Amino acid sequence: MACKNCNPVAQKHTFANRGEVSRFIRKLRGLVEDGRITEFPSFTDLDRIEDDASYPDIIECNFGCPDCGMEFTFKFNSHKSKPPQWSTSRGRR
Ligand SMILES: [Zn+2]
Repeated sequence: MACKNCNPVAQKHTFANRGEVSRFIRKLRGLVEDGRITEFPSFTDLDRIEDDASYPDIIECNFGCPDCGMEFTFKFNSHKSKPPQWSTSRGRR
């Protein structure tokens, strides 16, 4: 299970709207700045997703928790009819 570091983002989530994404991205940035989770080299840099929820057409951002090894992905593809998603998995490292 998730530990206290990554607990705030440990739930899988489908975003209903861009406002929700913005709030989540702000929270995510805070956690990365505090070193509670780590941004992995990804298809998309977190920096490219703006707080006002303007973002590239295709997003895939990966994160991990240095403490418990949980891994997280923020994914969005505007060419598909799926909403943006945050998913979690048990890391294999
Ligand atoms: Zn953790």
